[in-house]
Amino acid sequence: MPPRALIDLPWTEVAALDRARAVAILPLGAVEAHGPHLPLGTDVIIAEAMARAGAERLAARGLEPLVLPPCAYTPAPFAAGFPGTLSLSPAALTSLVTDVAASLGRHGIRVLALANAHFDPAQVDALRRAVAKAPGTVVFPDLTRRALAERLTPEFRSGACHAGRYETSIVLAARPDLVGAAARTLPPNPRSLTEAFAAGQHTFEAAGGPEAYFGAPAEATPAEGRESIAVLGEILADAVLAVLPA
Ligand SMILES: [Zn+2]
Repeated sequence: MPPRALIDLPWTEVAALDRARAVAILPLGAVEAHGPHLPLGTDVIIAEAMARAGAERLAARGLEPLVLPPCAYTPAPFAAGFPGTLSLSPAALTSLVTDVAASLGRHGIRVLALANAHFDPAQVDALRRAVAKAPGTVVFPDLTRRALAERLTPEFRSGACHAGRYETSIVLAARPDLVGAAARTLPPNPRSLTEAFAAGQHTFEAAGGPEAYFGAPAEATPAEGRESIAVLGEILADAVLAVLPA
């Protein structure tokens, strides 16, 4: 059975959920420049793919996952200089996640899992604040932590991973119609965003990404994208199962 999306259901179906086994999954993306070859909504596409893959695994283990509509509005200061990027205050995202958790809790759904595909430090920090503040249990497998990053591809681990091989592969797997022909010919950009964050830089331009991509888009394949989506789903499901055993 494909994972259920909350907004596709009538309220009566939510009322009939087994609360002890229910988990809501919130995909977190961004509206943010992703090179000249990927859509602004790339992180939304990746977060939704992660959420669905995780939900399938959890349903197979007997839990009742519900995929929430994705949150695309988020802090994205690194890309703010590129047309089309929308960047909110960190406090807005913290409030949104906290309020969603509180609202779910009123209906007895006490576990909220975050499927996050956007890693601007301002956004990750806002999510950590929400995890600390929100009622109930917010499960946040933070892919910027080394132990989880190690489960993903070499490019992801290198930090040169914005609209490069890793993300382009996932979009090729999930929404190939949205990948531009430029993906095949863009030269690699090996500059690491992790190092840029550590060096206190605040924009893609300063970090050495004048076209808003880092990594090697031309090396992307749909097969790698499918594999990454499976691993993302596994990471999410493992994090949920740690607090809500099957
Ligand atoms: Zn991205």
